[in-house]
Amino acid sequence: MKAIENPFSKMMRDMKPKKMPRIQQELTACLQCGYCIDVCEAHEQSPWESVTPRGKIYYLRAIQGGGQSDKVLGREVSLSPYFIDAMYRCTGCGNCEAVCHANIPLVEFWETVRKWLVDEGVGPMSAHKGMARKIEEVHNPYGERPSKRGDWWPKEVEKTAVPEVLFFAGCTGSYREQKVPQMGVQVLARAGVTINTLGPEEYCCTSPLLRTGINKYSLDCAQHTVERADGIGAKDMVMTCSGCYKTVSTDFGKFYAKAGQNVYHISQYIEKLIAEKRLPLNNEYKAKVTFHDPCHLGRHMGVFDPPRNVLKKVKGIELVEMDRKKENSRCCGAGGGYKSQYGEMAINIAAERIRDAEETGAEILVTCCPFCVVNLSQGAKQIGSKIKVMDLMEILLKVTAPPEAKPEPPKPSAAEIAEKERLAAEKAKAAALEKERLEKEKQMAEEKARIAAALAAKASEDEPIIVYGDDEDEGMGDDIWTDNSPKALIRRAAWNKGLRCRLDYGARAIPVAFVKPKVAVYVFAEDGEVDPKDREKLEEEGWAILTFFEKDVTDAEKEALEIKAAVKENLKAMKKKKK
Ligand code: SF4
Ligand code: SF4
Repeated sequence: MKAIENPFSKMMRDMKPKKMPRIQQELTACLQCGYCIDVCEAHEQSPWESVTPRGKIYYLRAIQGGGQSDKVLGREVSLSPYFIDAMYRCTGCGNCEAVCHANIPLVEFWETVRKWLVDEGVGPMSAHKGMARKIEEVHNPYGERPSKRGDWWPKEVEKTAVPEVLFFAGCTGSYREQKVPQMGVQVLARAGVTINTLGPEEYCCTSPLLRTGINKYSLDCAQHTVERADGIGAKDMVMTCSGCYKTVSTDFGKFYAKAGQNVYHISQYIEKLIAEKRLPLNNEYKAKVTFHDPCHLGRHMGVFDPPRNVLKKVKGIELVEMDRKKENSRCCGAGGGYKSQYGEMAINIAAERIRDAEETGAEILVTCCPFCVVNLSQGAKQIGSKIKVMDLMEILLKVTAPPEAKPEPPKPSAAEIAEKERLAAEKAKAAALEKERLEKEKQMAEEKARIAAALAAKASEDEPIIVYGDDEDEGMGDDIWTDNSPKALIRRAAWNKGLRCRLDYGARAIPVAFVKPKVAVYVFAEDGEVDPKDREKLEEEGWAILTFFEKDVTDAEKEALEIKAAVKENLKAMKKKKK
């Protein structure tokens, strides 16, 4: 390690301050309690008391009024290079302010002291001077050509002449992390927001200069941006960079005038679009994520919830918090001109932040500032972390994409088409046959029902039952048509009236028996009569007995009518008995 010369031995040779800034109140307020020391990342990297917030204030007090020991030793404290270096070993994160026991507005305080150092001609540091020169020449700290400033614009999004939103990309978004503003604009377009940008006409917001004490270009840059933005005619101004958001929202008003638009960080604008149901979150994003608060957005501007609320709306995301979050979030190490002057230490701080994120078990560290993305990604690389660093826009671009269309099924071959047609024809034929069968079945059922209804109607008219072909049918053999005996004539006449009989029926050998209606017919040649025992028995069983004599029979019509009447009578009696 390079030996450092004792500052006190050089002190008398160093510059004497011409004029102290108005910082008496803050210097007096400091209780020297030291609560600010442990939270200071810059002190972690340079472990000297002079780098701590308390140490810097102590030194400033000594410069202003002389320390007790200096008085005793008769020496004067001056602006030594070591003190100047200590004043720039600060990311401007504001963690000291968040814990300060005396509520000293330390973020503004460090900027005031740095401006004083610039005014005294001893600040800023070499890297900051280089940035200032480039901003003066080409309006960005990277020294890139202004004509290329608008090249990041995504081709698929149309610019609108008089848009709803003027998108301010910032220098890091325009030249280094172009994908962040690109994704931001694409997401806004998916919500139907009309957008435009200043392109080559956009100037640096001058945040890198203001944080390092240089404000001589801020008036020109602020004036240029405010006037060009007014010329576009947008209602709102949106940006993905947290540093630009703080500067345009607060510092422009101090140096020139507030922007004529409503100024939003994109996380706030997206939260608004989701609430207005303008931005559909179509897709799931399954991941365990943690969120890093950019200092300029969170601690400095109080915007803690919008990015978290947006993440919570995404289906599939599990949001887990780091121990140091929101007001107490650890700095990524890039701000306040620290990365440009003390690059290696800035990445060391980012690596610490990556370790914070790893402790949560998250797979992704989400933030919403391209400058934080750059430094945190370098920190993750330094320690070989598997955690992925993403800007919030990367997740939003994925979840707002139109729902994925299902892949088309492969086209069938000619043989498959022919087979399909054959099967379809077979199926149609089988269906037609089945239809025909069902139709026939239906017709038969209808016919059966019609016959049954006709039979029922006839039965209800109390007509004698006409039985076709049941077991009472004697079966009229040829004799009925050839035999002309009186007995045969009676049977034929009865048959013609629909009555069926049996011959010599049962145990008592009834000569002509109409079995179902129980009518027994006896035909005698001469005078004769039914055996009294048979008569008694038959009458007991409910038979009606008719006796005819051959001499009386002519065409047997009279006898048949008598039989029909007896049948009818007996059936009626049976029916009644049954009831
Ligand atoms: S602003 Fe941050 S880096 Fe600077 S002194 Fe305070 S805690 Fe340290
Ligand atoms: S916390 Fe505040 S009061 Fe305490 S030492 Fe730090 S700056 Fe001073």
